[in-house]
Amino acid sequence: MIRLASLRLYPVTLDLVAPFRSAEGIQQAKRTYLLELLSDEGTSGWSEISAQNDPSYWPETVTTCLEIIEHHLAPLLARNFSSHVEIATRMATVKGNQMARASVEMAFFDLWAQHEGVSLSELLGIPTSRTHVPAGVTLSLSTDIEALVGELTDLRRQGYRFFKAKVAPDADSAILELASTSFPMEHLVLDANESYAGASGTQLDRIDATGAALIEQPLLERDFVGHVELAKRLTTPIGLDETISGVDDIITALRLGMAPTINLKPSRVGGYVESLKIIDRCQHEGLHLRIGGMLETGIGRAHNLALASHPAFDRVGDLAASDHYFARDITEPFVLSDDGSIECPRGLGLGRTPDPNWLLDTPFLELHIN
Ligand SMILES: [Mg+2]
Repeated sequence: MIRLASLRLYPVTLDLVAPFRSAEGIQQAKRTYLLELLSDEGTSGWSEISAQNDPSYWPETVTTCLEIIEHHLAPLLARNFSSHVEIATRMATVKGNQMARASVEMAFFDLWAQHEGVSLSELLGIPTSRTHVPAGVTLSLSTDIEALVGELTDLRRQGYRFFKAKVAPDADSAILELASTSFPMEHLVLDANESYAGASGTQLDRIDATGAALIEQPLLERDFVGHVELAKRLTTPIGLDETISGVDDIITALRLGMAPTINLKPSRVGGYVESLKIIDRCQHEGLHLRIGGMLETGIGRAHNLALASHPAFDRVGDLAASDHYFARDITEPFVLSDDGSIECPRGLGLGRTPDPNWLLDTPFLELHIN
């Protein structure tokens, strides 16, 4: 049994090594909050708010998450918990707000795993045989073919083998040129972030002809019918990211006759309980699955890696080493192995905690529970 004593929120700002550009805008830094749940025995579970500072990718922002956590989720935590999955049931009275709920649920799972003396992935029922996952590195939107080839060459020299490039109809010339070089396009996912909604069929056909591994989220998040029709026409598999807020969205796509590749970000679907439902459904239906990312700090990255060690993830996801994003991470960094993979944390619980010196210097908001 666990009883919680308090919830703490620590502001964190990490400058990105390079500005990150997508169809939604440019990001210069990661500005969010780490969330610490403390039990009445003094154990800590960690997570982070994975929302962005603006609602361009997802309706929630860091600010809306803080509001929901403080005023609607924290008051639900004043009770004895006799199982880790109870946390999701408890918070289910809050509609939507998946990223806010996920930040509480995922910290609670870290806490519970430590309470049980197991790693987070063991708590999630994941076999321990997969110790590493292949890294996949995401490139900014680029219209400069020389810069793009230079960046890819540098990343391949570092050991990366799988890539994702952001694309948009008014900025896909470099990708189209790349396809005419010797670059192995089957190692490249194209992520449109909904930007081909309203684009002409010709524009989509040109992207289709590149031979990329996947076209992720070409159309608007609620446009199931458009994606179903597009999937029939294109030869490149279609992935869904923004569309998938829970397992019900996968069931809808399947009912409409589409078998999309699913980009699973545990924070976007409300946490681990919903993620495990999605994994089960994908395995049952034979859908391909990849892990997504939100430019997380080491805390969020550790959570994603714990889940990504599940064998259901049969497509390379968006997990790169910490130094690809940040000069200095908030935790012990994740590094690229010689074979182009990243090791999944196997310590007690999450296997990563914030730098204690950083914690000492950072003022936090404390919400007392009980
Ligand atoms: Mg995406």
